[in-house]
Amino acid sequence: MSTHYDAIVIGTGQAGPSMAARLAKAGRKTAVIERGRFGGTCVNVGCIPTKTLVASARAIHMARRGEEFGFTTGGAVQVDLPRVMTRKDAMVRQSNEGVERWMKQTPNLTVHEGHGRFTGPHTVEVNGEVLEADQIFINVGARAAVPEMNGADAVPFLTNTSILELSVLPEHLIVVGGSYIGLEFAQIFRRFGSRVTVVEKGDRVIAREDADVSAALQQVLEGEGIAFRLNASCIGLRKTPTGVAVDVDCTQAAPEVEGTHVLMAVGRRPNTDDLGLDVAGIASDARGFVTVDDQCRTNVATVWALGDCNGRGGFTHTAYNDFEIVAGNLLDGDPRRISDRHSCYALYTDPPVGRVGMTLQEARDSGRRVLVASRPMSKVSRAREMSETQGFMRALIDADTKRLLGAVVFGIGGDEIVHSLLDVMYADAPYTTIARAMHIHPTISELIPTMLQDLTPLD
Ligand SMILES: Cc1cc2nc3c(=O)[nH]c(=O)nc-3n(C[C@H](O)[C@H](O)[C@H](O)COP(=O)(O)OP(=O)(O)OC[C@H]3O[C@@H](n4cnc5c(N)ncnc54)[C@H](O)[C@@H]3O)c2cc1C
Repeated sequence: MSTHYDAIVIGTGQAGPSMAARLAKAGRKTAVIERGRFGGTCVNVGCIPTKTLVASARAIHMARRGEEFGFTTGGAVQVDLPRVMTRKDAMVRQSNEGVERWMKQTPNLTVHEGHGRFTGPHTVEVNGEVLEADQIFINVGARAAVPEMNGADAVPFLTNTSILELSVLPEHLIVVGGSYIGLEFAQIFRRFGSRVTVVEKGDRVIAREDADVSAALQQVLEGEGIAFRLNASCIGLRKTPTGVAVDVDCTQAAPEVEGTHVLMAVGRRPNTDDLGLDVAGIASDARGFVTVDDQCRTNVATVWALGDCNGRGGFTHTAYNDFEIVAGNLLDGDPRRISDRHSCYALYTDPPVGRVGMTLQEARDSGRRVLVASRPMSKVSRAREMSETQGFMRALIDADTKRLLGAVVFGIGGDEIVHSLLDVMYADAPYTTIARAMHIHPTISELIPTMLQDLTPLD
């Protein structure tokens, strides 16, 4: 015997709740299944807790800069990690409980708390009960990947989930992985007072960015006392009497780093390994990401996959946009597509990196005639007034179509400021739209029109 629904949503991450609520509101009898905490990664162990900690870390950092700004604090700044974590927990709880309430109070929507697994293309089992539906939406997200490395099975390490539970500050935190998640935690814990070493197997951090962005960011973090071990070609873990040693097998310096804690931040893997995809005949790639088309449809006509598990985004905004695409197509007669969106994201170090569209390297590889505009933050008067002159901004323009191809704003407010360029890209307007715009003085954004009046060909 199975319970019949019009629609089943598996997972309450960043796409599932909105999808479930829209379907229920449209009159479809809907079930939503959640095996963990309502709200998924972003709410519980991703964006919300980390950005809350970034805010604490920045406040602490600014308190230490009193001399520069003309005040004293009456002694060294004391960080109270339990109180920092309590503030973070309150932020998380508010969102997590909000999603749970929303799901449980939506009319026409039934919540099943447990692990959902396909038993066929139209059926999902949860807590021993079989649910059947005409349409099924997968929103199961991803989790920290644990790579095959010596010692990883025997030596305890932290992930983005467990590091958020610490109540005692690590004396020396070793972060394995010099990408977005790793670098955010590295700076957070350095500012809290830990010694921090980042171990990265590549020859630079955030390899997805242009080399000058990687170098500038590393320089900022080194300026705060974070150590880097790049080219760590053979990373392994070993227990020591006082903590843990990370073998780095670097080409330079000592062959290992000894610390008290290790954070593993080397990528994410989709939660599809125990989902019964094979039983339902749903195709996935070699890494387990569900294969979808431009409208998030899987190869099974009645099943969609949204968010991190489809491998087409990896961010909260891409997961939510997947919901908008699916809802647009199914419920609004609006043929939205993944390919309509421009790549955009931020790295929430301080200062942050705001990124849209192509990198310099991607623009060069595209074979287009490209024009480049850039400005160091040290030339932006608002940044100087705030003593926040680290970083730079850059925009890339197609010389023939006059369209913006991409931009990076690495500097104070970069995560927000970059949207003015992104919106011109969405408007499909020429770069002159913003180059001729009058912006407010004094802001960082006011330098964007000025910067765009000074273009040089990319060699
Ligand atoms: C440390 C960290 C910081 C981040 N910071 C940012 C940021 O600043 N900005 C940003 O855009 N993105 C950020 N991200 C990424 C962001 O969190 C994810 O892209 C986003 O949460 C993806 O949402 P989702 O809907 O795909 O899945 P998730 O949010 O992962 O939700 C999936 C849900 O499905 C449930 N589930 C899984 N399998 C099953 C099953 N079989 N049955 C029932 N339920 C199941 C899970 O319990 C979970 O609740 C960060 C991630 C991390 C780890």
